[in-house]
Amino acid sequence: MSAQSACLSCVHNADNPNRRPEHWIASDEHWRVAHAFGAAVAGWLVLVPRRHVVTIADLTDEEAAALGTWQVRLSRALHAVTGCAKTYVVQFAERAGFEHVHFHIVPRADGLPEQFQGPRVFALLGKPDQPAVSSAEVTRVSAALHAHLQSPPLHATS
Ligand SMILES: [Zn+2]
Repeated sequence: MSAQSACLSCVHNADNPNRRPEHWIASDEHWRVAHAFGAAVAGWLVLVPRRHVVTIADLTDEEAAALGTWQVRLSRALHAVTGCAKTYVVQFAERAGFEHVHFHIVPRADGLPEQFQGPRVFALLGKPDQPAVSSAEVTRVSAALHAHLQSPPLHATS
C-alpha cells in the first residue's frame, strides 16, 4: 500500500462526488480546508496540503507562500463566523495515520476556560469526555465559513 492510499488526508484530497461539504470548505491549487473530526469546538479547522507531505521543510516555495495567506484568511473567517477572540495555529502531524502535514486553525473563544487554553486545547479534540459538536452544527458552521471565504478577500489595511 502506498503512503498516499494509507493516508486519510490524501483520501479526502481525492475527487469524491459523495464527500461531505465540511471535508472541503475551501481550497486553492496547494491547500484544502476541512473541519476537524471529533472536535468539541465548532469551527476547528485543518489546513492540508493537496499532495502527500510529512514535513513542513518539504513544502514547495509556492505552497509556503500560500500557507501564510490561508492562515490569516481562515483566522479572519473564524472571527467573523464564530466570534472567537483569537485563533490558535498548530502543526504536529504525529498521530499514526495523520502524518500528512496539517495545520490546526482553532477558534479560541472569549472565556475559554483556562484548563483548555494554549496546547491544552487538544483536550477538546477527539476525547470521549469532551463530546464533539453535533454533525448538524459542524455542517452549519462549515457552510457559513464556506460562504464567508467565497466573498472577495478584504484586507485589514483597506
Ligand atoms: Zn497524505
